[in-house]
Amino acid sequence: MDLKKAIREIENFPKEGINFKDITTLMQDGETFKYTIDAFINDLKDKNVDVIVGPEARGFLMGTPVAYGLGIGFVPVRKPGKLPAETISYSYGLEYGSDTLQIHKDAIKPGQRVAIVDDLLATGGTMEAAAKLIEKLGGEVVSMQFLIELEFLNGREKLSQYEVNSLIKY
Ligand code: 5GP
Repeated sequence: MDLKKAIREIENFPKEGINFKDITTLMQDGETFKYTIDAFINDLKDKNVDVIVGPEARGFLMGTPVAYGLGIGFVPVRKPGKLPAETISYSYGLEYGSDTLQIHKDAIKPGQRVAIVDDLLATGGTMEAAAKLIEKLGGEVVSMQFLIELEFLNGREKLSQYEVNSLIKY
């Protein structure tokens, strides 16, 4: 199936010079959405994954149906101040400034095998932060799954110690 055709590209969003990949058009089509989720599930089904982690916000959209399909749990990674119980944080550098992500302290048990699912791999900063949070809690990141990989940003290099799978590449 041609998933690229289902993704809408928006010039200069959210700022000048960015060609934003809009996955809402893929998700509103039942066939392409199901194909996408099934592709993630198929790649993960034999990897003995205990839990799926998804970063806010589009990682929730991609990650929860994958967890449901595998019959395993889902854990959100969120921006600061959103998770209600006790959290741990990880901050990472951006071109200007920094960003922080959080996870509930009791969300991952030591030794659990974790797969992280997100919509898009750009620089890899988000995924690396999610992995660090999981590892701080004693989890093992066994796979990173993306719908879209922007190859020209070399995110895969930053994540070279992990298994990275993407369904479509630009
Ligand atoms: P990174 O941390 O790899 O630089 O950026 C990836 C994160 O930014 C992902 O969580 C993704 O949702 C978001 N992102 C960056 N650019 C785009 C884009 O063009 N389309 C979509 N859907 N998400 C993007």
